[in-house]
Amino acid sequence: MVSFDEKDQFALQRAQMVEHHLLGRDIRDPAVLRAMGRVPREDFVSQAYRSQAYADHPLPIGVGQTISQPYIVALMTQCLRPARDCEILEVGTGSGYQTAILAELSARVFTIERHHELSEQAQTALEKFGAANVEFAIGDGSRGWSGQRQFDRIILTAAVPSIPLPLARQLKSDGVLVAPVGSGAVQDLAVYDNRGDELVGRIVCGCRFVPLIGEFGFRE
Ligand code: SAM
Repeated sequence: MVSFDEKDQFALQRAQMVEHHLLGRDIRDPAVLRAMGRVPREDFVSQAYRSQAYADHPLPIGVGQTISQPYIVALMTQCLRPARDCEILEVGTGSGYQTAILAELSARVFTIERHHELSEQAQTALEKFGAANVEFAIGDGSRGWSGQRQFDRIILTAAVPSIPLPLARQLKSDGVLVAPVGSGAVQDLAVYDNRGDELVGRIVCGCRFVPLIGEFGFRE
């Protein structure tokens, strides 16, 4: 049970996070700022890390994985340019926090996680948050969403050596794909616009992500 005091404290920390870590840097999209100001990040981390939920660094979420720092979640979302009518594919559900932000900003989110225990935790947190527009899958997201579906936006929350072909094929012709790309400890945060048959990319900044393990990602 959460006391009113604790709820108020987290609300204050959330407002401070938006003010200092997002607006204080280069996050300008009002819809992204509103979503980051609404989603209770403390509900997407374990009890042991709740007090650090709004610190601007990643936190462990189990099985060697992390919830990304708030600034990176906001930056990737801003780069993705989600719209109300968008269908978004997310590869790497993790804690479900990024999923919740995307669910606030789009029509539907399809999210894939390779660790079933993380997917289950995320499903519980997203249900508590009240996100009714999320579909979950467990498996290797480097192979894309099963079936022939295409998406307006695709976001990878783990690093790839290059964009997996099945994911490039699932991006609609005017779609946007955001991913950490690179094989080293530091990768490039890259944004790709699909211009017909060609993905045109640009690098936004350096970043550090866990590897995307899979057939079209890194080997375990
Ligand atoms: N954005 C997430 C959040 O808000 O908590 C953090 C994601 S974490 C940095 C990356 C996630 O990608 C991990 O949960 C990891 O298990 C998952 N992952 C790695 N390879 C994957 C794959 N091939 N398919 C699906 N998920 C994968």
